[in-house]
Amino acid sequence: MKQTRFKTTAVHRGVSKDKAYNSVITPLYPSSTFRFKKIGETAGYDYTRSGNPTRSALCENLAALENGQAGYATATGMAAVTAVLHLLKQGDHVIAGNDIYGGTYRLLDTVFRNLGIETDFVDMRHPENVTAALKQETRLIWIETPSNPLMNIVDIREVCRSVKQTSDALICVDNTFPSPYLQQPLELGAHLVVHSTTKYINGHSDVVGGAVITGTQELGDRIAFTINALGIAQAPFDSWLVLRGVKTLALRMEQHQKNARALAEFLSRHPAVQKVYYPGLESHPGHETAGSQMKGFGGMLSFDLDPRRCDMDRLFEALTLYALAESLGGVESLIEAPWHMSHLSMSEEAREAAGISPFNIRVSLGIEDTDDLIADMEQALKAASLL
Ligand SMILES: *Cc1c(COP(=O)(O)O)cnc(C)c1O
Repeated sequence: MKQTRFKTTAVHRGVSKDKAYNSVITPLYPSSTFRFKKIGETAGYDYTRSGNPTRSALCENLAALENGQAGYATATGMAAVTAVLHLLKQGDHVIAGNDIYGGTYRLLDTVFRNLGIETDFVDMRHPENVTAALKQETRLIWIETPSNPLMNIVDIREVCRSVKQTSDALICVDNTFPSPYLQQPLELGAHLVVHSTTKYINGHSDVVGGAVITGTQELGDRIAFTINALGIAQAPFDSWLVLRGVKTLALRMEQHQKNARALAEFLSRHPAVQKVYYPGLESHPGHETAGSQMKGFGGMLSFDLDPRRCDMDRLFEALTLYALAESLGGVESLIEAPWHMSHLSMSEEAREAAGISPFNIRVSLGIEDTDDLIADMEQALKAASLL
C-alpha cells in the first residue's frame, strides 16, 4: 500500500482482506488451527499461537503507525516487554530509566536479575547518565518518556546518538504514554518500540494487550521467535478489539490532550495544588525537549495536592466524572494516587528516589467535554477543602 498519513493509515492498514465476502472490517478468526492443503502447504496460517489472520491485520496496522518494518501483538503490555527482554542472555547488562513503569521495573529488578541479567536504573533526564553507565556487557537501553507519574522527559534523539557512538546495544522505547500519534521513537533513533495497547491504542478500557514494533525485519524475526516460543501472542478476539480501537486513536488523542492542557492550566492556578506535572506547561523542565520530539503533550498529568488544604480521600469521593482506578488511556477519565496504587510494586525507597509524593495524584483525561471535567474538579476540590 502506498504511504498514507496517520489518520488514514490507522483506518485502512491491515484491514479489508476478506476474500470470501468482501467484508469492510477485518473478520474475526477464532480458529486455533488451519487446514493444510497438503503437507507443507497452507493458506498462510497453520496454528494461532504462531500466526492468525485477525492478529496479522493488527500487526500490520501497528507497524505502519510506528513507521516500523515489523509489528507483533502480545497478550499484555508486560508480554511485549518480556518478548524484548528475551533477546538478552545471562551476563548481559541493561540500562533503564529509574522512573519507568513499575511492572517493568519489577521484572528487571527481580525475574531478570535472578536470571543473571543486571540492570542499572538511572535518571535519564540527563543523557550523560546513560553513557556513564554503559559497559562492555550493555545490550539494552530501556527508555520511557513521558514517564509515569511525573511526566519526566527523556531526549530520545540525544540518548540514541550518544549511545550509538560507543555501543551497539539495542535501544527500546516504551511508547505507551504518547502513543504513535504523538511520538515515533524509531524515527528518533530507537531500534524497538513497545506498547501496552491496553492504554491509548485500544482506548476503551476493555482489552489488555501489548505490541512490539521493530525498525528492521531482522530484529522483527527475532521478536517473532521469542513471542512464539514463549507463547505470549495476543488472542484473536482481543486483537480484533484493538484493531477496532486503533482506528480512532488520532481523534481520541486530540481530545485527551485538549482536556489535559485545560486541567493542567486550571490546577496550576488552584491554591490547594502545590505542583502540576504536565510537559505542555512552559514551567515543566522537559517542555522544550517534549516539543521537539512529540507532536503534542498527551493526555496524562499528575499534581501534588497540598495536604494541609485539601483531603485526598474526600477529593476522590467528591469527584463524579473521574473514576478512582488504575490504568489510563481510555475514553473515560481516571484518577489515582500512584504512591498508594499504581506504583506499589516499587519499594518505598524506589518511589521516594523517583520523587513521587504520597500526595501525588495522577489523572488520565478521557474524551469527555472539557468544561464538564474542569467543573467537576473544581467542585470536588472545594468539597474536600480543609480550610
Ligand atoms: C500499563 C503499562 C505497561 C504494562 O502493560 P499491561 O498491558 O498492563 O501488561 C507497560 N508500560 C507502561 C508505560 C504502561 O502504562
